Amino acid sequence: MKEKLINAAFAAQKNAYVPYSKFKIGAAVLLRDGKIIQGANIENASYSLTMCGERNAVYRAYCEGYKKDDIVALAISSNCRPAATPCGACRQVLYELIPENTPIYLVNSYGDEIETTPKELLPCGFSKESL
Ligand code: ZN
Repeated sequence: MKEKLINAAFAAQKNAYVPYSKFKIGAAVLLRDGKIIQGANIENASYSLTMCGERNAVYRAYCEGYKKDDIVALAISSNCRPAATPCGACRQVLYELIPENTPIYLVNSYGDEIETTPKELLPCGFSKESL
């Protein structure tokens, strides 16, 4: 299933809309029922409106009715070396919207793979328990 998830991230990466940075990111979320939901980064001429691939994938899962405990893994693909890691905003979103020990596979077109988790990406993260 992990390989299928990673392949789905690379497939989604092809749909990235990145006319400004040319920095394509793909993402894929694996759900408890076996479904995979993909995302890619989408840029905008008004740069701050750009949305990262992993956030698009996780938001899509929520939009389809899935919740935090339905998410069992996430893959994020890039063409850079080392493999791209989530930006700070995405780390905050992942910390809240997927379980803290969810495996996140950071992969690139060179065949490199790093496995991490939301908790590793954002130690001492801010959450609703912080409020
Ligand atoms: Zn991001």
